[in-house]
This record gives sequence, structure tokens and C-alpha cells, in this order.
Amino acid sequence: MSTTRVADNSYDVALENFDAAANVLGLNNDIREMIKYPERILTVSVPIRMEDGHIHRFEGYRVQHSTVRGPAKGGIRYHPQVTLDEVKALATWMTWKCAVVNIPFGGAKGGITCDPKNMTQGELERMTRRYTSAILPLIGPEQDIPAPDVYTNPQTMAWIMDTYSMTKGYAIHGVVTGKPIALGGSLGRNEATGRGAFYTVEHACAHLNIQMKGATVVVQGFGNAGSIAADLLHKAGAKVIAVSDSTGCVYNKNGLNISELIRHKESTGRVAGFKGSESITPAELLALQCDILVPAALENVIHADNAKAVRTKIIAEAANGPITPAADRILEASGVFVIPDILCNAGGVTVSYFEWVQDEQHLFWDAQDIYKRLERIMKTSFEDTLKIHLDHKVSMRIAANMLGIGRVAEAVKLRGVYP
Ligand code: NAD
Repeated sequence: MSTTRVADNSYDVALENFDAAANVLGLNNDIREMIKYPERILTVSVPIRMEDGHIHRFEGYRVQHSTVRGPAKGGIRYHPQVTLDEVKALATWMTWKCAVVNIPFGGAKGGITCDPKNMTQGELERMTRRYTSAILPLIGPEQDIPAPDVYTNPQTMAWIMDTYSMTKGYAIHGVVTGKPIALGGSLGRNEATGRGAFYTVEHACAHLNIQMKGATVVVQGFGNAGSIAADLLHKAGAKVIAVSDSTGCVYNKNGLNISELIRHKESTGRVAGFKGSESITPAELLALQCDILVPAALENVIHADNAKAVRTKIIAEAANGPITPAADRILEASGVFVIPDILCNAGGVTVSYFEWVQDEQHLFWDAQDIYKRLERIMKTSFEDTLKIHLDHKVSMRIAANMLGIGRVAEAVKLRGVYP
């Protein structure tokens, strides 16, 4: 059930967006050369014994795009379509994202090309541990700190933390974020991406004079980011009329009960078949008339061929890279307000930063403290981006890129060129 066109390469998209923002910033070529490309790329072979006894080799990646402003930071994705270019794009976006929310991290990403839905827990654990040992020279609390992404979760992080710790001989919590609370995880991390996205939607609604109460919402991708964002929007009085996952799309023009849908997904593993909903196609879902559309699955789902069909006022990019540059131009011309990924979904890495700080200090904060700090950071980042958008008359995406890239450029200028 894919709405992705193979032709759109996410890394090309990342480079195109970089150039657009760098041009408006007037960045010189020396600075561009220093910050545009990944600093380190590692491809690893991950052989493991499958349940039937044979050895299967997976390919894995870890890309450190930047360590200019601090340790590299970024999630690990398990998906059949993971490619090195995709990981490079996601790592690049992490650099600008951490700078947009002004936390002292660079950008990284990792991934394994695999089909986690058709693997057992034992296979997933062996693959995660072998991958961790293969990327061991790159990761560490002061070097590069992985986190969950598509089809990885707190359990995956626990295996990485344990594997890393066993090689050092003592427990090192700060090597990953998004861990279970019992292993030094942070309160609020699991819902941080959806919650951060929700805060940015609140600010966008205020800016555009849209009432949240009664606003209609469509969510593509009902995983960690999408289901939490849907739940918070629902609780704030918005009407979530359609959601989808990789197995189907459910629609009810009067609104879906999101708490019940979450329970349905937990018990059946899918949104399809939810009581009181009708089934629609992925293309129909993206073309529904609504106030807020939340893509929360994968890259390049809104592209040149379907962007004209989109009928919404706000797009909140909980996913990374869901809109191609060609689609961006179409949406801008039709007046859609896009909250770009590197702002919209930055709540995840922000609370990851809180988790890392707590691990390093061995001192843990309560949930209200975390929500308050997250809300403050999302508000400031939204306002900083909006100001650039209005002052320079550029799209919100270019504005967010200008904010992030500008901060990295400033840091690299101060550090200078080694040697
Ligand atoms: P997840 O694995 O929890 O959920 C992904 C969801 O997308 C699943 O429900 C899956 O069924 C659905 N999906 C997959 N293919 C689909 C398709 N073709 N159509 C509709 N739905 C589809 O992953 P997640 O962590 O929620 O990540 C989702 C997006 O959010 C990704 O782009 C990720 O990079 C981004 N993101 C996640 C975090 C985080 O903290 N988890 C942080 C920042 C950005």
C-alpha cells in the first residue's frame, strides 16, 4: 500500500532544500563545502542465524552527517526500503532539526534493510545486537547517540544499550535515547514526537486564525508519531476524520474515537476493521477535504502527481520528508501552510536531549517538567521560524532550513578548519 514514487530520491530532496536555504542566507562556498555533506558513512554487514537455522545477511548503515554543534544524534530505522541515500537524507535533516530547536547535537541516522514485521523477536534481537557491535566504533554518549525510528522501539534501544554496555563492562545509559524508563529512559519520550507536532499545530492554528475545536484532521501513518498526534488533537477538540497505517485507511466523516482506535490497533495490529469506520484508499485519504493533514509515515508521499489533489489548510509533517520539492511548490501556490518536518517533529529529539542530559546527570525529572520544557522549546522554534518566513517571504520549509543551517554555519565559522 505505497503512495511513494520510486523516482523521488530523499537525498536529492535534502540537497535541494539545503541549496534553496543556503542561497537565501547567502552562504559562501567554503561554508557550504564544510556543512552540506555527511562527515562519516559506515556500511555494515549484519549476518544472523534465522529461526530455521540458516544464516541471513542484512545490510546496515550509520551515517554521521554533522558533529559541528555536538555529538551526532539520530534514530535507527528497520524497513525493507532502507537505502544508504535514505539514511544520508535523514541524517542531514537531523543536523538542521537539532539546530532549529537549538540543542547541542549534530545529526546522524542509521538503518537496516530488513522486513521486521516478518521477523521473530529472537531474530530482531540478534540483528540489533550484531548491528550494534558493527557500528560500535562510531557510537557512544559523547560521540553518536541512536534513538528509535520507523519499526524500532524502546526494546530495540534496550538491546543496543545492553550490547554497548557489555563491551565496556558497565552500564552506560546515555548511549541511546528512547529507552524504557527502567533503563534510564525519560518520562515523556515515547509521546514526544506527537506531542511536539501537536504544539506546532496549535501555533499554526493561532497564526492562521483556525479554531482547533471542530477542526478536521487526517493522519497518514498511525504509529508512534501519528497516533500520539491524533490523540492529542482529538483531546483538544479537533475531529480526526481519517487515519491510515501500512495495512489500510479508515474514515468517518463525523470523527473517529482515537482512544478506541489506539486500543483497536493494539489488539489487532492494524487500523483496518475499526468499528463505525469505512475503508478508503491511500489516495482518497490524502485528497480528503480537511483543516489539518498530518503525514506521519514515510518520505515522498506527497509528490508532483498528487499534490494538486490535497485539500487542506495546514500540513503538519510529523514524518520526515513527506513532501517533495515539486509538491512543495504546488502546495505553496495553493496557499497550504506547511509546518516542515525539521520543526514539526523535533519534539522527539528534544526529549531525547532531555533523556541524555538526565542520564549524564543521573538525576531524573518529572513528566510535567518535561512537557513544560518541550512546550517552551517548540514555541520558541515555531516563532523563530515564522519570523524568518514573514521577514524574508520564504516558505516555512526554507525558513526552518535557514534557521538550522544558519546556526550550523555560525558554529563552523567559529571552529574553523582543522588542521
Ligand atoms: P512507527 O514505526 O511507530 O510508525 C510508522 C507507521 O506508519 C505505522 O503505523 C505504519 O503502519 C505506517 N505506515 C508505513 N507505511 C505506510 C504507508 N505506506 N501508508 C500509511 N501508513 C504507513 O514509526 P514512527 O516513529 O511513528 O515514525 C513515523 C515517521 O515519523 C517517520 O518519518 C519518522 O522518521 C518520523 N519521526 C519519528 C520520530 C520518533 O521519535 N519516533 C521522531 C521524528 C520523526
